[in-house]
Amino acid sequence: MRRSYKFLLRPTARQAAALAACLEDHRQLYNAALEHRRTAYRKAGVTVRYGDQSADLKHIRADDAEGQGRWSFSSQQATLRRLDKAFVAFFTRVREGRTPGFPRFKGRGWFDTLEWPKDGDGCRWDSQPEHPTATFVRLQGIGHVRVHQHRPVQGRVKTISVKREGSRWYVVLSCDDVPAQPLASTGAAVGVDMGVVSLVSTSDGELLDNPRHLEASAGRLAAAQQALARKKRGSKRRREAVARVAALHAKVRRQRVDGAHKAALTLVRSYDVIVHEDLRIVNMTRSASGTIEQPGRNVAAKSGLNRSILDAGWGVFLRVLARKAESAGRELIAVNPANTSRTCSRCGHCAKENRVTQAEFACTACGHTAHADVNAAINILRAGLALRDAAEAA
Ligand SMILES: [Zn+2]
Repeated sequence: MRRSYKFLLRPTARQAAALAACLEDHRQLYNAALEHRRTAYRKAGVTVRYGDQSADLKHIRADDAEGQGRWSFSSQQATLRRLDKAFVAFFTRVREGRTPGFPRFKGRGWFDTLEWPKDGDGCRWDSQPEHPTATFVRLQGIGHVRVHQHRPVQGRVKTISVKREGSRWYVVLSCDDVPAQPLASTGAAVGVDMGVVSLVSTSDGELLDNPRHLEASAGRLAAAQQALARKKRGSKRRREAVARVAALHAKVRRQRVDGAHKAALTLVRSYDVIVHEDLRIVNMTRSASGTIEQPGRNVAAKSGLNRSILDAGWGVFLRVLARKAESAGRELIAVNPANTSRTCSRCGHCAKENRVTQAEFACTACGHTAHADVNAAINILRAGLALRDAAEAA
């Protein structure tokens, strides 16, 4: 199994300055390589490839020992490969007949990740194992940086990345061969409905992760982005507004991941089988069917941006759930969510009038009333179990 770990870095002031310089040099390398490709293509119709740029990089490093030459060659190659990926994606979209934007130059604040593709090559995880209390990661040109390692790392460290989020620095380890930790069987199955007011509602009537705090941050983020749009380009106030937006973005992301982890953990601990909506179909149908358009009074006043921030939580939740379920040996089933919110879970009557409000379900045939999301979750569970029976019979 593969999994990644993210830890806060505690660089000294000198190391923080070196990290910032390293990131800035990588950004300039990325932009220079992009400029090279653009010019060659526009002036001579020549396509520059990754291999050409990697060869050029050797000379650049030799000529600029105090600058680009300070950093890990492999890490710089990873940055060139990132640009290569952007071009491959660009040409794929062109071939598909779409009109994609040309890969863009990265401004300050829009380049925040460095990657070392292999532990031991320009970087070393746990570089001072003899230290009695702290963990360090060694990064070429920066030094042994202290890591706030809040959980043990399992498996084999494959790649090491460093990420800047606002004023904080993080290290992200991607590990291979992480052993699965199956949990004891519970004999229980559950259906979950993903919503806006609660992240998930279960067929057993539980509402998990009411994202109030997330809602508040999302509101502040929307306000900060509006404020940013009013600032003059190149001004000091604009730079401050950019930093504020970035910090709020990071906060929203942390809160969302945190809520997703808690909800997923609760489910994985209690159930052997977890049935959820297929997100690809949710995204296609839910906005058209009006569920998001009329999300009830709690969220009705939200701006489009604010709402989209809340919506994005579903994808994060399903990714976290998939990882935890794999590790715990639980079964996940994705079902088509069509009609699950308008069908009565007691008598099966399906009508749009059944859904009185966003939160309230009342069957017009049999009179059954329930929390609308819980009613949907029961239908989702049933659809999943039917799918499973059909697969076993086949
Ligand atoms: Zn009914």
